[in-house]
Amino acid sequence: MRLITHNMLQCHVRGCNANNFPLELQEVVLEQEEAEMNEDFLRNMLGKLEYDALVATCHKLDINDLPVTLPEDAQYNEEFLQILHRIILETHVKSGKMVCPNCNHTYSIRDGIPNMLLAEHEV
Ligand SMILES: [Zn+2]
Repeated sequence: MRLITHNMLQCHVRGCNANNFPLELQEVVLEQEEAEMNEDFLRNMLGKLEYDALVATCHKLDINDLPVTLPEDAQYNEEFLQILHRIILETHVKSGKMVCPNCNHTYSIRDGIPNMLLAEHEV
């Protein structure tokens, strides 16, 4: 699971509608996998990313390369886009878990795939 995917996941347990994002990554194993950089894609993602959540998640993973606030010139800031590319597209969570900050539901990640399925009583 790439960090860009994590940035789009929120808890979907029934009744858990507030403070359910970002899911807290715990006990994760990370792996870097090179991917071709596509600046247009990154520029397009800038408007969709929850940037504060991304920075907070990175800090918990001890990844401290991103500026705390989105640079005003982010779209044309080559250095920033490269860092962003490396973090959201090349950093993969191979295993671990994600815990909802609101209801504490735990979603496991195995072989790089998050299990977002819920038990019947949670749907
Ligand atoms: Zn929840």
